[in-house]
Amino acid sequence: MEMIKLKPVFKQMIWGGNKLRDEFNYPVDFDNCGECWGISAHQNGDCTVAGTEYDGMKLSELYAAHGELFGSLKSERFPLLTKIIDARADLSIQVHPDDEYAFEHENGSYGKSECWYVIDAEPGSTIVIGHNAKDSAEVKDMIEGRRWSEFIREIPVKAGDFFMINPGTVHAIKGGTLILESQQNSDITYRVYDYDRLQNGKPRDLHVKQSIDVIKAPFVDEKPFIDPDVTKNTCMEQLVTCEYFSVWKLDVDGEKTVLQDQACMLMSVIDGEGTVNGEKLVKGDHFILPFGYGEAKLEGKMNIIVSSPRR
Ligand code: ZN
Repeated sequence: MEMIKLKPVFKQMIWGGNKLRDEFNYPVDFDNCGECWGISAHQNGDCTVAGTEYDGMKLSELYAAHGELFGSLKSERFPLLTKIIDARADLSIQVHPDDEYAFEHENGSYGKSECWYVIDAEPGSTIVIGHNAKDSAEVKDMIEGRRWSEFIREIPVKAGDFFMINPGTVHAIKGGTLILESQQNSDITYRVYDYDRLQNGKPRDLHVKQSIDVIKAPFVDEKPFIDPDVTKNTCMEQLVTCEYFSVWKLDVDGEKTVLQDQACMLMSVIDGEGTVNGEKLVKGDHFILPFGYGEAKLEGKMNIIVSSPRR
């Protein structure tokens, strides 16, 4: 059985930098590329399979036609999305709904749980996770009163940090940070605050009502949940397991063997180079080990982020 290699989709963003082109050597022919959608079957950025008998198919098509490659999941659409995000400037402060709210208010869409592995952060960088309101009434007061500096919880960030962002959590990536995001396959975002910036002379729309509806209060700073029974592979460091996915960090220096014991395993090489079962891998490669793949022998010096869907 062969791995499924994917061609990413690139997104120009007003806040994007040039590290995806300059440091990851992606074929990006424009400036300010903020996002590389490395493993995605979303309609706003559907990756193309490179190689194998499925060459040229979209990931969404492959999932629909060959669900068995992904472990015959219950999910109607491919459930996860992996992105690398290069923020030169601050992103707006936002929050995502859960499945229930999104289904009801966003045309049957999925909600969004996401998590961030920080690949790189310039010295002094910060990130927004959570808020300081004591309850939902105070969330409303602080947002409607535009008391942003009181409301927003901003913390220092460095390479190697990991954050789980459950639905209802206020969050924002700030300038100078490069992250790998593993998330549910959803694009539903409510913008809470955009630093009063203008785009083409106008402020971008805010979603005040939806934000107040979905923000959970008070914010609780919990450690990501770890489930030691989710895999037999002790050579991977588990970062989180939630209802929708598990995520691990896999550092290879020499040789490591991973047994594909999940529905499918999504892998992204965030640094270094090497091989998987003899096939060359470089920084920036994204691929899926299908259901029943067996053992993956990884050789070289590489840092890989692995994720697997849970439903
Ligand atoms: Zn988000």
